[in-house]
Amino acid sequence: MTFSAETKAELCRVPMERRCCRMAELYGILLCAPAFGDTGIRVSSAHAGLVRRAALLLSRVFGVEPVVARSGSRQTLRVEDAAALRGIFSGFGYDFKPSITYHLNRNVLENECCAAAFLRGAFLMAGSVAGPEKKSHLELKIGHSALSREIMSLMLDSGISPHCTERAAGSLIYLKETAGIEDFLTLIGASGAAMAIMEAKVEKSLRNRVNRQVNCETANLMKTSAASQRQIAAIEAALARGGIGIFPESLRETVDLRVAYPEASLSELAAKFSPPLSKPGLDHRLKRILKIAEQEGGSF
Ligand SMILES: [Zn+2]
Repeated sequence: MTFSAETKAELCRVPMERRCCRMAELYGILLCAPAFGDTGIRVSSAHAGLVRRAALLLSRVFGVEPVVARSGSRQTLRVEDAAALRGIFSGFGYDFKPSITYHLNRNVLENECCAAAFLRGAFLMAGSVAGPEKKSHLELKIGHSALSREIMSLMLDSGISPHCTERAAGSLIYLKETAGIEDFLTLIGASGAAMAIMEAKVEKSLRNRVNRQVNCETANLMKTSAASQRQIAAIEAALARGGIGIFPESLRETVDLRVAYPEASLSELAAKFSPPLSKPGLDHRLKRILKIAEQEGGSF
């Protein structure tokens, strides 16, 4: 099952508690459906749960029992009876007459709770969402641009900030930001899907951070060990030629410790002095030692 289908299955389990919200959700489904006009209503989808829910809502809100037929993997619900159509259209506040486009009648979304229910219906009918493992994307395909603008403004009123683009086949409302997608899914009742996206994001950023840290530490270790190997080679060559006597008294402890602990980083080495040296202090001494070793002609 795709993530979209899982999300829709979750939405189809949202209880149909309030009458106002049943009406609003049905409105969202029908307004975005393949056909919604005075000659008939058609809801067609590969998602059987959505078609069942639309039929149930039609029956509970308008007392209309639609015809549902299956063809291949798709189910199609139809309402063609004139009296039933008349009842539905007047219920949504339209004059029952031929029209090419139907605007969103905000009066149907009478209570604050209803915007979310309407958007749930619209997403069930026209929406899809990319899975958590993919690049964040959620979209609604809307037949005509006037309606898509009205749905966008409803989303904005609900605190969601979508983008919109015009396609040959109609308008596309979409969200790309993970946070916006989580908010939208939570709003319409798919908090499980929102959680799955959020968890995937947290896991991914954690993994990236750990990788960055490991890479960084490895690079530092390699740098440290290459530098200390160069120092040690130079010091040992100088010692072989002139002995410890070529270094002034004040630097001899440092020479001994550097040679004795070739793997130690600067801070580890600084801690071996008693009292411990500061890192810049040790660095300064090592530079002086290296300079003397080079003057003595140590090869490195
Ligand atoms: Zn409501």
